[in-house]
Amino acid sequence: MWTSWWLWALVAMCAGETWREQAERIMQQTPVIDGHNDLPWQLLTKFNNQLYHQGSNLSTLASTHTNIPKLRAGFVGAQFWSAYVPCDTQNKDAVKRTLEQIDVIQRMCQEYPETFKCVTSSQDIRQAFQEGKVASLVGVEGGHSIDSSLGVLRALYHLGMRYLTLTHSCNTPWADNWLVDTGEDEPESQGLSEFGESVVREMNRLGIMIDLAHVSVATMKAALQLSSAPVIFSHSSAYQLCAHKRNVPDDVLQLVKATGSLVMVNFYTDYVSCSAQATLTQVADHLDYIKAVAGAEAVGLGGDYDGVTRLPVGLEDVSKYPDLVAELLQRNWTEAEIKGMLAENLLRVFAAVEEVSNRTQTSHKPEEKPIALDKLGDSCRTQYGYSAAPSLSLRPGALLASLAPLLLSPHLL
Ligand SMILES: [Zn+2]
Repeated sequence: MWTSWWLWALVAMCAGETWREQAERIMQQTPVIDGHNDLPWQLLTKFNNQLYHQGSNLSTLASTHTNIPKLRAGFVGAQFWSAYVPCDTQNKDAVKRTLEQIDVIQRMCQEYPETFKCVTSSQDIRQAFQEGKVASLVGVEGGHSIDSSLGVLRALYHLGMRYLTLTHSCNTPWADNWLVDTGEDEPESQGLSEFGESVVREMNRLGIMIDLAHVSVATMKAALQLSSAPVIFSHSSAYQLCAHKRNVPDDVLQLVKATGSLVMVNFYTDYVSCSAQATLTQVADHLDYIKAVAGAEAVGLGGDYDGVTRLPVGLEDVSKYPDLVAELLQRNWTEAEIKGMLAENLLRVFAAVEEVSNRTQTSHKPEEKPIALDKLGDSCRTQYGYSAAPSLSLRPGALLASLAPLLLSPHLL
């Protein structure tokens, strides 16, 4: 009995090593492309974006889920770094702070050129894989970062933004967020407003991936229906396994499947198990589930490292991805399915977004109809460009008020 227990343990251990070794072999060829990492937010809050500050050295930084040795140990080959600014910047300094977060990502690439390579295309990611660098891309998390301006959207594209999450955890004047589905926020756009639709069309034209993490179900459906390219959920899990409104429900997973879109699974325990504790195997359950409902080509990884406070046992930092791959090998995922989840699915979606952009750049002019002035919240904004007539026509009662002096003028009386 004693002997057989040891034998079993030995076999299990050897098998475990084999899965892990197999995982590493696969990841040497096809490293992880992770959809969402908040290290830039950590750099802001811990060091006010000072990369030369004592303690902010990315080779030795220990208080974060992410540093250079951990990225290397985790076989991370590409990262969408989150240019995130909180909702309380909306109608204030959101654009300035977003620019600063993009700047700190670009400076990471300049400061650590042997590790990071800032890139902007699917082909660039493959090239960085060849060079053994961590391809670094900018994902802007929250539509409030464009301050309801198509001009700002285009400018951020030119600065390297390759996905925009349509909302964070607040409505924008043109798209509703997930808190509408919990009843904590009121629906304002019933998904996407007319201006929101023009934002989506312009993202298609420019070649910016539409990210539906954080949006309401109505916004998910509106964007999936409208977009002429596949979309992503950069860091969301399966609602059926954890009924959190940040997760993706089954009917939306069907739309993901139908459109060739992608769900990059979030590791935050609250979205994995709907509690403060979770395990690596529960994350694998989400991957299994999305694969079963939407297909293996719809599965990706968006760990949300450094954006969350609680992570599953076994996935404590960015060095742990190979253990997750080992778990999937144990669950009989094929090598092709695993490579899809790691990188190929995102590369396919990104290439499709680029293709739609190339096709529409020549046939479609840039969107340029401004948002109605009365949709903008109170702030210190000036109103250049908004002549009285177009804005007044959008305010019930205002037109009449503006016409009153005319109507009452002696010439007309
Ligand atoms: Zn997020």
